Amino acid sequence: MAKFCGNCGKELKEGQSICLNCGVQTGEPVKNRTDQFALVGFILGLVSIVTWLIPLFGLGTGICGIVFSVKGLKSIVNKTKAQVGLILSIIFLAITVVWSSCVTCINISNFYDTVNDTYDRYDYDYDYYY
Ligand SMILES: [Zn+2]
Repeated sequence: MAKFCGNCGKELKEGQSICLNCGVQTGEPVKNRTDQFALVGFILGLVSIVTWLIPLFGLGTGICGIVFSVKGLKSIVNKTKAQVGLILSIIFLAITVVWSSCVTCINISNFYDTVNDTYDRYDYDYDYYY
């Protein structure tokens, strides 16, 4: 059965959700986009449970998870998923930020220790030669 665009009347292919002739969305979208956003947000929220260990990944998935979940909150079918995704994303984004700043602090203090060790050795050598 051929379908026709409600706006311009051009024939549509099966599964086509936007008319190629006039760009208007047809009456039968394959899936509601907010439902998909909610699902993506939910998945990203779950992924962030693991990715917070790697600061860059954690930040990426956390922020994307929040963005998609917020868009997905308008979804009726997947509203709960969007809410769970949003909560998970926020929690693990916070953990990522705390964790990455801890890692940075440890690295900086290690760096200073190394520098101090070098200075100590230098002083020692200096005293030794004179
Ligand atoms: Zn059309």
